Amino acid sequence: MELSNRVSKVTPSSTLAITAKAKELKAEGLDVIGLGAGEPDFNTPENIIQAACSSMEEGHTKYTATAGLPELKQAIIGKFQRDQGLDYKASEIIVTNGAKHALYTLFQVILNDGDEVIIPTPYWVSYPEQVKLAGGQPVFINGEESNHFKITGKQLEEAITSKTKAVIINSPSNPTGMIYSKAELAEIGKVCKLHNVLIISDEIYEKLLYDGNEHVSIAQLSPELKNLTVIINGVSKSHSMTGWRIGYAAGNEKIIKAMADVASHSTSNPTTSSQYGAIEAYNGTQEPVEEMRAAFEKRMNTAFEKLNQIPGVTCLKPQGAFYFFPNVSKAAEMSGFHHVDHFVEALLEEALVAVVPGSGFGSPENIRLSYATSLDLLEEAIGRIHAFVESKS
Ligand code: PLP
Repeated sequence: MELSNRVSKVTPSSTLAITAKAKELKAEGLDVIGLGAGEPDFNTPENIIQAACSSMEEGHTKYTATAGLPELKQAIIGKFQRDQGLDYKASEIIVTNGAKHALYTLFQVILNDGDEVIIPTPYWVSYPEQVKLAGGQPVFINGEESNHFKITGKQLEEAITSKTKAVIINSPSNPTGMIYSKAELAEIGKVCKLHNVLIISDEIYEKLLYDGNEHVSIAQLSPELKNLTVIINGVSKSHSMTGWRIGYAAGNEKIIKAMADVASHSTSNPTTSSQYGAIEAYNGTQEPVEEMRAAFEKRMNTAFEKLNQIPGVTCLKPQGAFYFFPNVSKAAEMSGFHHVDHFVEALLEEALVAVVPGSGFGSPENIRLSYATSLDLLEEAIGRIHAFVESKS
């Protein structure tokens, strides 16, 4: 049976592929350290687990409204008011099966065949594939390493055509860990307003910021920019709830309603007990969020120094998220590899460290290391990479 043209254009997720390969080697009994994970290594806070369990015991085990429980929407509205000073109505919010599903559904409702979506490189692996699945065309602009992997308003303006529908801004960024400043967002916002380009602002790492950095959403800059922006967020990373599958989109009512229509024919509501857990995540104590953030910052600071001591490796200091995105092209070359992808394969097979090649993020000179793992393992892994490069040079 021939598969559809649509699906044949899709490349499988490189982050999941490396995790699978690392698991395979582990199952063979090898002592592999996995730095590929895109999820916090902490358990979900207990109060959230309890809230979900109680909801089931109380009989909340049925369908909910497709766009989410009204109480959860209220909790999300409260979060936006508290954290960003943004006012949304319930009709401007849809709760989805993770932020990934919010993005997927969004592309389904805004794109016609051939419509262009501008994606800054390095990008999160799923953006281009989701755009293609919706019949759209990804258009990449290079976030230069010298500009901390970020795009400028000028670059954006040059990439806009009559087919441009949207641009994606992901701050803090996966994979680079960089954040856009208010001034940089203002520059981008100005161009989007001028050309009426929808801004998709993926803020899933909003709570993971270091060195006193603060999160700014482009929607906060003006009411016009708020109207032009769809914010994507969720509890996966902030509250260590990746398996619960709760994300959401906030924006223009017409777009949100269309997303709910698509969801009503595909997934229906996100899991009911997970929604009750998410209500507690936003309405309950935020202490665990800060505890996890502080733990990530401590690991990041310790490991960062060690990473930059590896010959041929240069890494910008992450401002947020939980990834290092070092340039390893020199280290790869010194170790006898022309492609970083091959260097990554050898790291896994010989040094037993799993990292993700930057090629999957559109940045072939880099690798992504997740520090969502214990400091001991992190230091051990960086030590192994260091020894590997030295032994091959
Ligand atoms: N956006 C970015 C940038 C991510 O890194 C991820 C998860 O890795 C997501 C969205 C999706 O998050 P969720 O688990 O809520 O679907």
